[in-house]
Amino acid sequence: MKKVICIAAILLNAAYSNAQHTVAVSATDKKVDAMVAKMTLDEKIGQMTQLTLDDVLKTSGGNAVQPLQIDDAKLKEALLKYHVGSLLNVSGGAVSREVWYGLISKIQQVAAEDRLKIPVIYGIDAMHGENYTIGATLFPQEIGMAATFNPELAHREGEITAYETRASYIPWNFSPVLDLGKNALWPRIYETFGEDPYLVKTMGAAVIKGYQGNDISDKYKVAACMKHYLGYSFPLDGKDRTPAWIPDRYMREYFLPSFAEAVKSGARSVMINSSEINGIPVHASKYLLTDVLRGELHFTGIAVTDWQDIKYLHDRHHVAATQKDAVMIAINAGIDMSMVPFDYSFCQYLKELVNEGKVPMSRINESVKRILKVKYELGLFERPVGNPDDYPKFGSAEFTAASLKSATESITLLKNTNNILPLKKDMKVLVTGPAANTMRSLDGGWSYTWQGDFSDKFAADKNTILKAITQKIGKDNVDYQPGATFYDLADVDAAVKAAKKADVIVLCLGEPSYAENPGNIDDLDIPSAQTQLANELAKTGKPIVLVMAEGRPRVITEAESKSAATIMAYLSGNEGGNALADILFGDANPSGRLPFTYPRAANALVNYTRKNLENGNSDDAHGYNPLYEFGFGLSYTSFAYSNLHVSKPTLKEGETLSVTVDVKNTGSRTGKESVLLYTSELYASVTPDTKRLRAFQKIELQPNETRTVTFKLTPKDISFINDISKSVTEAGEFKIQIGDQTASFNYLTDIAPSRTGRL
Ligand code: BGC
Repeated sequence: MKKVICIAAILLNAAYSNAQHTVAVSATDKKVDAMVAKMTLDEKIGQMTQLTLDDVLKTSGGNAVQPLQIDDAKLKEALLKYHVGSLLNVSGGAVSREVWYGLISKIQQVAAEDRLKIPVIYGIDAMHGENYTIGATLFPQEIGMAATFNPELAHREGEITAYETRASYIPWNFSPVLDLGKNALWPRIYETFGEDPYLVKTMGAAVIKGYQGNDISDKYKVAACMKHYLGYSFPLDGKDRTPAWIPDRYMREYFLPSFAEAVKSGARSVMINSSEINGIPVHASKYLLTDVLRGELHFTGIAVTDWQDIKYLHDRHHVAATQKDAVMIAINAGIDMSMVPFDYSFCQYLKELVNEGKVPMSRINESVKRILKVKYELGLFERPVGNPDDYPKFGSAEFTAASLKSATESITLLKNTNNILPLKKDMKVLVTGPAANTMRSLDGGWSYTWQGDFSDKFAADKNTILKAITQKIGKDNVDYQPGATFYDLADVDAAVKAAKKADVIVLCLGEPSYAENPGNIDDLDIPSAQTQLANELAKTGKPIVLVMAEGRPRVITEAESKSAATIMAYLSGNEGGNALADILFGDANPSGRLPFTYPRAANALVNYTRKNLENGNSDDAHGYNPLYEFGFGLSYTSFAYSNLHVSKPTLKEGETLSVTVDVKNTGSRTGKESVLLYTSELYASVTPDTKRLRAFQKIELQPNETRTVTFKLTPKDISFINDISKSVTEAGEFKIQIGDQTASFNYLTDIAPSRTGRL
């Protein structure tokens, strides 16, 4: 009887929550269905078309007229003749909120003149803040946010970016990048959350929740776009948009989890990898776009192509004999929206294909429904343009402080010989090196312009490293000599002369800004002029504090061997200079950790997960020997770990293991510590990684304070993808490592290593 009541209660509950779910879903779905029922084929195809802003702007001599102005005839052709559903990008560089207001108002006004009055969904790359609006808050790039190991900061960044993007009347952000930064050469490393799948998925989910909140119709929220699905970051030769070879199980183990987590976090759109994997361009892969993305991950949002990528199926990848075939292949594979972005050929080919029966109407309807649904969810039908007065916090001191906090927590202290840092404020400091006095090396690409090449103009009111140091200790204590450009020595003698007079040298090396393929390199070594500058300065015998402002770990082994202290600044955004000065002079205590392995040599690119390289070949001089390990980072205080405790010696399906460790601040100043939990599986049917990050927590401790940090581990957390591409947790012994502490437990199951896969 008891059992019957119980079952009845469960059924009733299920029916109730289903009913709730159905009501919530169907309100929007009904509107979508009703709209689709009214639409002609042309109108549907228009919704699937995305053009770039340049297509509808007034031009003179081939360039957009400044300030940007809509060309009425071009806009009407796009929205009223072709019923185009989406526009993207900026023309040239960042514009003011007022200019955005004029542009977006005009666009939505014309869209409302069309028969069905469907608003346009405008999308932008607000990659580390709303980087295409003058005066917006620019945060560290994702690689810096990852170094904070603090998901709360990523969440706050997401909230502020969403606010300022909506303040620019734009509801759709092509962010976050969820690609795994596994290949140090790749020019988009700085756009990633680093090389570890757990870190990427955790930070990615946090930023998505910040962008979207619980309701994307909120005037301070935007729709996120997880990108670039899938495997984009791992080209064999390290160059952008070149072929990758990634076996299915490897793909699922390392590259898929961040997207799976993002879908669970509610991401409403996805952008597709421009490149090819295993010989198949992802834009042509029904397996990845439909079977995995929809069938397995249950993603319900919009799948948009990357830039011109349907055309590239013909022009670049040569899997489509004609442009029309390219459209057929991509749409049938599962693409919803084409970032065309320059002409109307997509509309024409797709219409012909539907009429010829080569693309089924059901495929069109499915895509149009997904697009309309997001437009309804964003509240665009009720509020196609925001109210300028609703955004008083745009570019505010509150937002700037959040950016400074992120930059401060990102900066990573790698070496501090004899505690030379923090420096004293009355020291005579020579600031030198090509990254010392430019915002380009703090902001990187996707800052005001695509390549970030005008940051010194747009962020002229922000502090470069030099300006921030000067502000902190006064100009009488600071000398500045660049010594070198990024590629050549430049009056190195003047730098050496100045060094002789200084107490300490702050040498700022690194990279200028770049984005995508203009950032390709043939050599990971830092250009030799920069090493030469370090060598010449070292000869003075004055201590060198080496600051690296760069988007990827350029090899610096020789220069770094000359430094007394080394700081990784990544691309820490508009407040990066201030954050660095705070850390150099002890007004802030560093707490960043490397989100990637810093290689010692250009041909020794091994991720921390490695395999066999340590235990198997520990006596091999050419084994795993990075300059600095993933997860490494020092503080001005010290922390001691003790009492690592596992709640029980065994774990079974359905159980949770509780892992505790005591962390004590044993130094004399307050500091933050990222407590990282790694596991290692000793034996498995697929050669186990040496270790894997499974959890982390960032805590703050006063001197002498001890905190017990608790982690929960489930069998799922220690699973891996076996040789038949299935997620399994196999029986056996696992080692846990937190700081210098280790412990073990056994996973008990009938699934023995030899029985899970093909073998
Ligand atoms: C990049 C994307 C970006 C798109 C639109 C492409 O070249 O790969 O990340 O969202 O341009 O600007």
